[in-house]
Amino acid sequence: MDYEAIIVGGGPAGLAAAAELARAQRRVLLLDCESFGGQVAKLEWIEDYPRPGERIEGPKLAAAMVEAAGAVKMEINEVIEIESYSGCRSVTCADGKAYTAPAVIVASGLRPRPLGIPGEEEYKGKGIIHCAFCDGGLYTNKAVAVCGGGDAGISEALYLAKFAAKVHLIEAQAALSATPPLQARARANARLDIRLGQKPVAITGGDFVTRIEVEESSTGRREELEVYGVLVHAGFDPVTEYLQGAVLLDDQGCVAVSGDMESDSDGVYAAGDIRGGSPRRVASAVSDGKAAAAAVLQFLQESKQ
Ligand SMILES: Cc1cc2nc3c(=O)[nH]c(=O)nc-3n(C[C@H](O)[C@H](O)[C@H](O)COP(=O)(O)OP(=O)(O)OC[C@H]3O[C@@H](n4cnc5c(N)ncnc54)[C@H](O)[C@@H]3O)c2cc1C
Repeated sequence: MDYEAIIVGGGPAGLAAAAELARAQRRVLLLDCESFGGQVAKLEWIEDYPRPGERIEGPKLAAAMVEAAGAVKMEINEVIEIESYSGCRSVTCADGKAYTAPAVIVASGLRPRPLGIPGEEEYKGKGIIHCAFCDGGLYTNKAVAVCGGGDAGISEALYLAKFAAKVHLIEAQAALSATPPLQARARANARLDIRLGQKPVAITGGDFVTRIEVEESSTGRREELEVYGVLVHAGFDPVTEYLQGAVLLDDQGCVAVSGDMESDSDGVYAAGDIRGGSPRRVASAVSDGKAAAAAVLQFLQESKQ
């Protein structure tokens, strides 16, 4: 077989697993479709890491995690399918390459759930913001909208408020769901216009976004806001298309795992935000990655690989 283990996803979970397996001198391939560091590399600050109440710069943490996993082979490639044969897993990538190993750890995380409103698809790359930290500077002195009042939405809105003239924070529910400290920071920021009980119904513009239309949930009254960027953080979905039929998913679409991160398919493990019941934090992703690596080492030993 090509490798002893293949890891799908180079975020905190995949990198932690890679570092553990590298320490055990196993032959490992780590695949990521975008870049190594995962969500962490796209955030200005990571709160509550390495310890509760502490924080660290996202890119700095991502670089340290990549360095710790440096001994494994890393490749940028999108995984599109995983198949299991007796004793062997085959991982197929978008460019047609396929790699084999007895064990696979899937750690492909989450992606923001689309709003499913007119304009959202059309304005991809034309004002739909994917990463506030990467693209925030493009919106200096302009108005933008952030859809979603949870932790992710508020942290991104606070970052955008450093550049933007105004950030409309649109939350369909009657209250924000972010942690109390984040809510307090949002309320204290004069550039944030918090709109509760309003849902986005359309994104419009010319070549680029210039407006978002919102609807008051209680009255149905609609209003157009002038914005030049829209960031959507109204829920997340696990990235599991390539796993359909390969492992059991739970009712949230996450990979169902046992305590040692093992899926229902022999030799396939899941770690981080993608696994069922994950607290969806960096600390839990790292701990999952280490647990999955320990389980893989045991699996390889038991199957005498
Ligand atoms: C806005 C925001 C703010 C946050 N702030 C904090 C915070 O302050 N503190 C905290 O502890 N947590 C925070 N989190 C949560 C934290 O970022 C995640 O819990 C953590 O990154 C999960 O790690 P992961 O490795 O499971 O997934 P990810 O970090 O999402 O990494 C998954 C990787 O898999 C890759 N991938 C996906 N599909 C494929 C495929 N088919 N083939 C190959 N590669 C693939 C992706 O490119 C990505 O690099 C925040 C999250 C968001 C969205």
